[in-house]
Amino acid sequence: MRTAVVVGGSVAGLLAAQVLTRHADMVVVVERDDIGADADQAAEGNARRGVPQGTQMHALLEGGRRGIERWLPGFTDEIAAAGAAVGNSGRDVHTYLDGRRRILVGDLPMVSATRPFLEAHIRRRVLADERVRLHVGSAAGLVIGGGRVRGVRVTRGSAADEDTLDADFVVDATGRASRIGSWLADHGWPEPPLRRVPVDLGYATALLRTPPGVLDGMTLGQSITHGPGGRVRVATAGRVEGDRWVALVAGYADDRPRRDSEDFLARCRDDPADEFGKLAANGELLGDIAVYRHPDSRRRDFHKVSRFPAGLVCVGDAVASLNPVYGQGMSSAALHAACLADHLDARPGPNEPPLRYFKAVRRVVDAAWQTSVLDDLRLPHVDAPRPWGFALKNAIGDMVLRASVTDPKVARKFLDVMHMLAGPDSMMRPGTLVRSVRATRRRATGARPER
Ligand SMILES: Cc1cc2nc3c(=O)[nH]c(=O)nc-3n(C[C@H](O)[C@H](O)[C@H](O)COP(=O)(O)OP(=O)(O)OC[C@H]3O[C@@H](n4cnc5c(N)ncnc54)[C@H](O)[C@@H]3O)c2cc1C
Repeated sequence: MRTAVVVGGSVAGLLAAQVLTRHADMVVVVERDDIGADADQAAEGNARRGVPQGTQMHALLEGGRRGIERWLPGFTDEIAAAGAAVGNSGRDVHTYLDGRRRILVGDLPMVSATRPFLEAHIRRRVLADERVRLHVGSAAGLVIGGGRVRGVRVTRGSAADEDTLDADFVVDATGRASRIGSWLADHGWPEPPLRRVPVDLGYATALLRTPPGVLDGMTLGQSITHGPGGRVRVATAGRVEGDRWVALVAGYADDRPRRDSEDFLARCRDDPADEFGKLAANGELLGDIAVYRHPDSRRRDFHKVSRFPAGLVCVGDAVASLNPVYGQGMSSAALHAACLADHLDARPGPNEPPLRYFKAVRRVVDAAWQTSVLDDLRLPHVDAPRPWGFALKNAIGDMVLRASVTDPKVARKFLDVMHMLAGPDSMMRPGTLVRSVRATRRRATGARPER
């Protein structure tokens, strides 16, 4: 193909652009923020306007890190050399469930850095390719004709200032607020159905510096605590570039964190995991607390539309934007890039709709959705239909989760699922269930955990 246009120059768009360099003579990335100019800002860890969630702590799961390495070999070494922390699941990644520390398992590298830093490094690599060109402007719609996409309408502010970029292939990577549905409807094509689960999650993130020695032995930590009335609180912290820590506290509905440092530090102190108390007692806050509200998890079911134009696909949050507590977004974007690569390697015909692509992406979304939405539906305030068999699945899921704290084999399965290296169904295999039942009995009788 001659020209591919990727709309949205964040993580999903950049990875898609990198994949497209193998198939297109020229890849144009259309981005409304001047991402060429904000490189220094990003290096300082500052978020940009088009990615407001960039102020919040982001974990890069192992599934995503491997995906990025596939397209950008040497990425991990490069960011580690620039200051990102790289922990190890078997050594310094501490996770807690209701104050009980999970057994350390595996030998997986765990990258920790701020979101702007990660994106800046991906961007530098992708835009360094002379086949990739950045076009600063805002996409206003698609050009579709003869059953296929033919270009993108782009403005630089006013409608009078509109350009059309011709394209043989278009990727929508505009994030969770994507207007792909209305862009399709403008041309008489069906809109993909949008499903939402109203989680009403609140995040508060801070950057901190601690004196030497305070949190030695930990690179990343997460603590999930269940409270009265179905309340769930989350605290997460990671060592990041610039010899700092990034830490977040999260809660739902009426229990969302406030934008003030007293609330932030009080939540850290109240957390049953010691590390968060130490961070509150010894950490120096670097700047203000940044808050973010995530009203719903959502997915667009492209596999359900009866007709779709050839040469057009969606990636990243534009396909599915999940509860961020599970940290799946950037890794999903990397897996969507792999689906795109498979689709393009199969050399689809010029008028062939990308049904195979959306079928593959559905598998990625289903797995991520199952991991996060089953937990979301346990929250009493979430007003969404519970699927058939929910109570049973929930009880089994809870048993396996609790067993993962003490049983090394269950913990390993849990690690692989949480890091998107295995599907959530792998936690339901007979061997894992048997070990989980045994772990539950041992906990009830006070016996030593199985090794
Ligand atoms: C609070 C929070 C915490 C999160 N934590 C994690 C985490 O720990 N780990 C993780 O992996 N993921 C996390 N995520 C998800 C993660 O931020 C996204 O999945 C990731 O940024 C990839 O998204 P994306 O590239 O699809 O979209 P986005 O990052 O949202 O980017 C969309 C891009 O499109 C551009 N754009 C939009 N409209 C237009 C237009 N019309 N024309 C041109 N450009 C346009 C925007 O400027 C932006 O650059 C979190 C999300 C939230 C909300």
